[in-house]
Amino acid sequence: MKIAFFSTRSYDKQFFNRMNPDYGHEITYLDASLSPLTASLARGHQAVCVFVNDRLDAETIEELSNVGVSAIALRCAGFNNVDLKAAAARGITVVRVPAYSPHAVAEHAVALILTLNRKTHKAYNRVRESNFALDGLVGFDLNQKVVGVIGMGKIGSVFANIMLGFGCSVLAYDPLQETHLEQDALGRKIQFVDLPTLYSKADIISLHCPLTEQTRHLIGEEAIMQMKPGVMIINTSRGLIIDTPAVIRGLKQGIVGSLGIDVYEQEDDLFFADHSADVLMDDDIARLLTFPNVLITGHQAFFTENALREIAHVTLQNLKDLETGKEAKNEVKIG
Ligand code: NAD
Repeated sequence: MKIAFFSTRSYDKQFFNRMNPDYGHEITYLDASLSPLTASLARGHQAVCVFVNDRLDAETIEELSNVGVSAIALRCAGFNNVDLKAAAARGITVVRVPAYSPHAVAEHAVALILTLNRKTHKAYNRVRESNFALDGLVGFDLNQKVVGVIGMGKIGSVFANIMLGFGCSVLAYDPLQETHLEQDALGRKIQFVDLPTLYSKADIISLHCPLTEQTRHLIGEEAIMQMKPGVMIINTSRGLIIDTPAVIRGLKQGIVGSLGIDVYEQEDDLFFADHSADVLMDDDIARLLTFPNVLITGHQAFFTENALREIAHVTLQNLKDLETGKEAKNEVKIG
């Protein structure tokens, strides 16, 4: 199949080129991200391959359809950036990579917690300048802390199990699971609770739910006011789940004790590119960067060798299935 590959980075090329000989697709790598303005670059290709911040709204989909594209292959799990109704109306099939490595994302959430807590990022810089003072580096034991997990799917479950290993107690909220207690073979417990209980009891809250109408700005003023003073909030899910101005107010009031985010609600124009020589126009992220207790990474939670291999393999297989008329088991359908 002829594939127009948008938002290409060097690592995409490396992993897709390594896997593609097994599938025999013809891939055109494009630096541009997908939008109504760039959609015409897909002319002559049956499929586009896109990532989290490519635009797949009705306007872009109409342009893609006009140039003969019949498949959209997301090289990611989330599909909140795709207008599925518009795709269905134009007869365009959407496929994705539902799970590549839940461990990659869950482990990155843990990395954010450990860094924020034990301040290894600051210690690293200090020690390199022969400053061995400990002032300002004090953290807390994770053992016995209460961790709240919002969204107990593939990533949330892996994350919860890692935190149990630290000796934390885990509270979980997921609308698909009733309030109940789960116990593993080692007797370690996950208590499913409602959101107000999770907010009021958790020392650390980690978000692992998808971005939906229900979860958009879930962590806003109302939620933050119910949280324990000093709570640590971790978001490796989608930026729009946090209302950034509300969390900035929470940080200033000291209710939010620390914040670790791998995703940001206005990341589309920022992430996956080097802006070090540009003036930062986004005042919210500029403010977040001034807090000593905020850690931001640029949507890298998925970024492990294992995940990149799996993403390339599943994406190429998804397109092979469509090409050969097999059932596309990773098709994204409305509803
Ligand atoms: P999943 O579908 O396995 O799990 C999501 C869980 O969230 C489900 O159990 C679902 O019932 C639950 N959920 C749905 N609505 C909810 C709500 N209103 N409140 C609480 N829980 C709710 O998905 P997953 O593979 O675990 O991925 C979770 C999210 O992680 C993805 O949607 C994506 O946004 C994000 N993600 C981020 C990265 C990254 O690199 N930062 C990589 C992969 C995925």
